[in-house]
Amino acid sequence: MSLVLDALDVFYGDAQALDGVTLTVPQGSIVAIIGANGAGKSTLIHTIAGIEKPRRGQIRYRGTEIGGWPSHKVCNLGIGQVAEGRQIFPSLTVAENLQMGAMLPRARSKEKATLEEIYALFPRLAERRDQLAGTMSGGEQQMLAIGRCLMGHPELIMFDEPSLGLAPAIVQEVFRIIKLLHQRGMTIVLVEQNVAVSLKLADHAYVLENGRIVMDGSGEALLHDDRVRQAYLGL
Ligand code: ATP
Repeated sequence: MSLVLDALDVFYGDAQALDGVTLTVPQGSIVAIIGANGAGKSTLIHTIAGIEKPRRGQIRYRGTEIGGWPSHKVCNLGIGQVAEGRQIFPSLTVAENLQMGAMLPRARSKEKATLEEIYALFPRLAERRDQLAGTMSGGEQQMLAIGRCLMGHPELIMFDEPSLGLAPAIVQEVFRIIKLLHQRGMTIVLVEQNVAVSLKLADHAYVLENGRIVMDGSGEALLHDDRVRQAYLGL
């Protein structure tokens, strides 16, 4: 197992955002988390990433307990995230944004070679390497956010709403990249409002409601589950 969460509780002050969340993300798999707005999906990702601290429960990555670790240590272990809303540095160039992704000790020595790989994966970023990131389209900024995450040499990437606000053609491109990274052996955690596509991609999926996991199964099984179809697919 790559990542294991066990009975995780997370609070914002007195308000409980995650309640006894237990899930596993096998190495090399795509695991989707689905749930309505406010269900706790971003909190889950933030807690694994070390941005929020769990009050109870465990987070184990490849056998190491990482619950409560600071973000930079979690990243340096090989857990990357592509945050909701892209979060690039708008006043830096594309190349400078990518360099920021390689600040981790695990990535520094390989920076040049990784940069070339990323430019090969995203030719658009190579063409625009000297352009200020804030002047690029939403789709290009999302590719940059993914590229910056890849600069840190992650083994596991958590995507928080990667298709949010993007034009349909770009959404297809984002999913193509996620599939490609999976084929290259990366482990993926996917939070995505496009539930149908995310279940089609996922090996396994969990349904989060009010901070609790209420259902899980293969992506295929949940895609055909009546409750999921009614609640999340509008069918
Ligand atoms: P969305 O898709 O709307 O982002 P989500 O499933 O990602 O929803 P979270 O953002 O994790 O949900 O929010 C879970 C709960 O925690 C919600 O009730 C939310 O209002 C609350 N919450 C999230 N962030 C904070 C915060 N920084 N301070 C206080 N409460 C928060």
